Amino acid sequence: MNTPLIELRDIRKAYGGGDSPRVEVLRGIDLSIHAGEFLAIVGASGSGKSTLMNILGCLDRPTRGEYRFAGEDVAGLGSDELAWLRREAFGFVFQGYHLIPSGTAQENVEMPAIYAGTSAAERHARASALLDRLGLASRTGNRPHQLSGGQQQRVSIARALMNGGHIILADEPTGALDSQSGTEVMALLDELASQGHVVILITHDREVAARAKRIIEIRDGLIISDSASALPHDGRANPKALQAVDLRQRLSAGSEHNGAWKGELVDAVQAAWRVMWINRFRTALTLLGIVIGVASVVVMLAVGEGSKRQVMAQMGAFGSNIIYLNGSAPAPRAAKGIISEYDLAALADLPEVQRIMPVNGAEASVRFGNLDHTSYVGGNDTNFPTIFNWPVAEGSYFTDADERGAAAVAVIGHKVRQKLLKDVSDPIGRYILIENMPFQVVGVLAEKGASSGDSDADNRVAIPYSAASVRLFGTRHPEYVVIAARDAGKVKEAEQAVSRTLLRLHNRKQDFELTNNAAMIQAEARTQGTLSLMLGAIAAISLLVGGIGVMNIMLMTVRERTREIGIRMATGARQRDILRQFLTEAVMLSVVGGLAGIGLALLVGGALLLGKIAVAFEWLAVFGAFGCALVTGVVFGFMPARKAARLDPVAALTSE
Ligand code: ADP
Ligand code: MG
Repeated sequence: MNTPLIELRDIRKAYGGGDSPRVEVLRGIDLSIHAGEFLAIVGASGSGKSTLMNILGCLDRPTRGEYRFAGEDVAGLGSDELAWLRREAFGFVFQGYHLIPSGTAQENVEMPAIYAGTSAAERHARASALLDRLGLASRTGNRPHQLSGGQQQRVSIARALMNGGHIILADEPTGALDSQSGTEVMALLDELASQGHVVILITHDREVAARAKRIIEIRDGLIISDSASALPHDGRANPKALQAVDLRQRLSAGSEHNGAWKGELVDAVQAAWRVMWINRFRTALTLLGIVIGVASVVVMLAVGEGSKRQVMAQMGAFGSNIIYLNGSAPAPRAAKGIISEYDLAALADLPEVQRIMPVNGAEASVRFGNLDHTSYVGGNDTNFPTIFNWPVAEGSYFTDADERGAAAVAVIGHKVRQKLLKDVSDPIGRYILIENMPFQVVGVLAEKGASSGDSDADNRVAIPYSAASVRLFGTRHPEYVVIAARDAGKVKEAEQAVSRTLLRLHNRKQDFELTNNAAMIQAEARTQGTLSLMLGAIAAISLLVGGIGVMNIMLMTVRERTREIGIRMATGARQRDILRQFLTEAVMLSVVGGLAGIGLALLVGGALLLGKIAVAFEWLAVFGAFGCALVTGVVFGFMPARKAARLDPVAALTSE
């Protein structure tokens, strides 16, 4: 006598207990099923047929009793092994078809193969062949709601056969069908049985049951008759019958499947996308948190970076090695200190100092023809173009000879040229009046386009230091002194050396002041740092809100698709497959949200650029914000996904 494929001994199933009344649904079922059998389980509604089928199909565990599958005690198998068994050995056909509504016929049929790790090409081919065989070749792309009941049931039979379907468990397969379709489905099951599939048919209809070779009658959780109990079963009756040994070998070979993750991932992404698309309005609303969060962070960082770069460029435009020296009052009512020629000579000798240039200047009125303009007029030497890195655009700079002779010559800034000599094609050689003194224009400075403080650098006239002293201001003392440090990286040291020298020369009196561009840039960087911190806080809050949105929508999805989860489990999905699927959906949500956020940020950035606001997008900020959105998806999607994965297959299947 060979081992039965399925052997039940004293199987009992009770529901309830605790606060709800305890019901014994199965009260001691003994049943052996051999390979190649076609049997019907009949009984009145409520007699426990579906409960028995769920136990047979390893969707549910009995409360008590022993279930041996191919000689193996099922009670000892873990949830992954049970999933493997459902995937490889069983194929379910339900009264309500239980197709996934968002998938096409083809996709529904392919699903069990995805969990089995079958390659895409093989999957497609097999699903098409099965659908073709069941007369649905022209319906592969239809969704369940576009199919008749009979067609849906044939799709679900094809799905049951996808991984082989050695044992077909059909629970009232014709219950919801008209008699014509019902007859067709029964003929199909008949055919499968004759091909060697074990068919276990559950029905309350005796006429339907009559097609089976063996009829088992169940009442109130007990088998009251079994047509085969008299004659011992012969396992060799059908040569094509599945050999129990075969499955047992495969069972002991382990339930790990190979290379399935790729197919599953593609399937999960497709499914996720479809669900998002179906609920696009709801999805868009929920994603608003992430979109706005990502966009605002990216835009604000870009604006911050843009203004920072602008400031840096402006300060750097005058050389980051520049130190400014001013006379200042050491005490509130004391006189302002004066930088003498003697001081300048001493400072010029310092090894840390590369160049030194005193400037004697002030705001002055400048006139050309009948046009008047106020601009900064500075007397300085010929170091000016080098020390400020500021060449002339037209004409030339004044010379050392001009300096020695206190010549009345001027080099005008871009702004002055624009204001006073706009209509003059060649300003070189023209005379302008500075404080009513005539000066001849010898050159025009290139446009600097930068400002220091609130004065526009291009609104400037440069004249020889001697001319400024003698002709305009009547004093030989500099207004300020520009010192270029030899090493741009050691501005601080140069400043200290200058300070020490001056303190010594001024009898320890701090009647001067030193500032430098590098220090200003640093101060700017500090402000930026504070700003970044604030942005970080905004980012964290908006991502938190976005994350809660993702969690909310995922919880909703799991609730709405509980039935689908049950179907997936019945076709062999393991807990981790379900977990992965819903996690993929959560991540997809945040990826879409993140991308939309970046898109929005680019749009806003573009608009700001058009409004002449400095914007500089940094890859790091863009990727960082996107990465945060992604992490949010994983973190907030995990709880709902785990909830889905831990659902009980039967409870999920029978949920509304
Ligand atoms: P059948 O398929 O033969 O119509 P079922 O196996 O579906 O019957 O149900 C048998 C009995 O078990 C019914 O009386 C039903 O109320 C009860 N039952 C089924 N599932 C549950 C459950 N989850 N909790 C409590 N009672 C249940
Ligand atoms: Mg039932």
